[in-house]
Amino acid sequence: MKIPLIRIDGQDPTTLSLINKRVIPVLHSGHFILGENVHALEKEIAAKVDARYAVAVASGSDALYLSLLALGIGPGDEVITTPFTFFATAGSIARAGATPVFVDIDPQTFNLDPGRIEKSVTRKTKAILPVHLFGLACDMNAIRRIARKRGLCVVEDAAQSFGATYEGRMTGSLGDAGCYSFYPTKNLGGAGDGGMVVTSSKRIAAKIRFLRDHGQTKKYHHEWVGLNSRLDELQAAVLRVKLGFIDKWNRQRRFHAAEYSKNFAALAIQTPVEVVGRSHAFHLYSILTPRRDELAASLAKNGIGAGIYYPLPLHLQPCFKKLRYKLGDFPVAERAGRQILSLPIYANLTAEERAQVIARVKNYFKKF
Ligand SMILES: *Cc1c(COP(=O)(O)O)cnc(C)c1O
Repeated sequence: MKIPLIRIDGQDPTTLSLINKRVIPVLHSGHFILGENVHALEKEIAAKVDARYAVAVASGSDALYLSLLALGIGPGDEVITTPFTFFATAGSIARAGATPVFVDIDPQTFNLDPGRIEKSVTRKTKAILPVHLFGLACDMNAIRRIARKRGLCVVEDAAQSFGATYEGRMTGSLGDAGCYSFYPTKNLGGAGDGGMVVTSSKRIAAKIRFLRDHGQTKKYHHEWVGLNSRLDELQAAVLRVKLGFIDKWNRQRRFHAAEYSKNFAALAIQTPVEVVGRSHAFHLYSILTPRRDELAASLAKNGIGAGIYYPLPLHLQPCFKKLRYKLGDFPVAERAGRQILSLPIYANLTAEERAQVIARVKNYFKKF
């Protein structure tokens, strides 16, 4: 039995037939970009996450980049973020012309450690960019408290946490702007690239609407230099169907995670924490073990996919050499890079497959 790390083929027949019903009319309509499906998806997502506005863009990376631009962040500005995330988080800050300033993570949640943020605030700091990594919300009260005190914006990277909550509110709706990715492997994944910014600021929403379409405020009148970052109708049609299932799918992910953690309790591994008041969306189920590489090899031998998110923290990436960080600067993130391993988790993981993963992990640790 082969159990892949991620399964995005073989959608269940109900979802597929609903998607078919929505997609075919788009092909007939001849309206392919920023049409009725995109507008409806924006309304539906804004309602779902309880934000006033939602603006669809071409990717999660662009959602971050455009949010920073809309907040007026650019050259000479600093943005505080985590070194332990997908590259796009810091990449978007650099693309905006600003400087990413990294702060180490919490060893249990793998999210920005709020206790370390304030020391890194300078006169140039304009924003904090927390990432709800693997689907677990950051300590947003602490982050917002610092932001308020120091006059900073908060842009949430909620690419991995669609549907995750913090004190009853949806991640993405807790800062000045929140960014989702619809990359196919994400919890709410399309059939291609896509992204969305949500905000309760009319000004930020309007600015991103212009910027995503070359900064034109009316036809052939360009108030700013924007870019082409539009969402297409086919993606929106697919996503509208999937949005209807996201809560169920996230519940299924949470159930699998609880079963894993229960069964791994006696093993010498660190399992994902659940924090009171935060509902984890389990985009990934990631464990920590010093025997990571050997465990991964043993699982691979038995047909079980496992992945490393992320092996090299962003402060050590070659493209950020000029920021002059070095090995040892963020020991918690660096250790996570060496020890983290993600196991198969998706809504349609079967009980049998889950049992197989558990058995193989337990079997590997038996000899210690
Ligand atoms: C996937 C991801 C992004 C980027 O999203 P894309 O849609 O792939 O551009 C940004 N941040 C994090 C944390 C992600 O996981």
